[in-house]
Amino acid sequence: MKRITIAIDGFSSCGKSTLAKQLAHHLHYTYIDSGAMYRAVALYAIENGLVNEGVLNKVALLRVLNHIHIGFEHDDATQSSETWLDGRNVEHRIREMDVSHNVTLVSPVPEVRAKLVHLQQQLGQGGGVVMDGRDIGTVVFPNAEVKFFMTARPDVRAMRRFLELKGRGAGVSYEKVLANIERRDTDDTTRAADPLVQAPGCLRHR
Ligand code: C5P
Repeated sequence: MKRITIAIDGFSSCGKSTLAKQLAHHLHYTYIDSGAMYRAVALYAIENGLVNEGVLNKVALLRVLNHIHIGFEHDDATQSSETWLDGRNVEHRIREMDVSHNVTLVSPVPEVRAKLVHLQQQLGQGGGVVMDGRDIGTVVFPNAEVKFFMTARPDVRAMRRFLELKGRGAGVSYEKVLANIERRDTDDTTRAADPLVQAPGCLRHR
């Protein structure tokens, strides 16, 4: 049977990755979290002093971009795919609030997008993949056989993310999570390069 490509786009914390993981598990497909790649670049920038008081040193980032290595490895214990940055497992670290705060500094940079889109297209080559993100159905796999677009009210999404973070022991307030989600909604929908928009022919889920 033909192994197709399934693209799931939408706003932050809608449950895109939950749906994507379930679909991938059910179909025996590979799940790829494209947001994790942008988060990994943001973590690199934070850890290497390329972000100062909310400003990204873009020139310095572009100088090293080719040398940043991002990949995924399957963890047998958790039965899930985990994100690696330059030989280190950063799966949990990239979910922390400082990364959420700084990720929209790196995600609008066209060179960052070009690198990550290329990687995503390589990983999804040949189909049998469920990928979630912001531009999967519009830019990464415009010919995906199935495209979803997910959205929900910001307060509902913020509560979902807040409970997730609290469950992992993070000391963060609901208000801060909500503010971050609203800021990323604006950043992601208004940037010039590959903004979050609903692809034509999407199945819309609210
Ligand atoms: O999906 P997640 O919320 O982890 O994504 C983090 C950020 O990465 C988003 O807010 C967005 O700025 C960026 N992103 C993107 N394109 C994607 C996936 C994520 O710009 N395909």
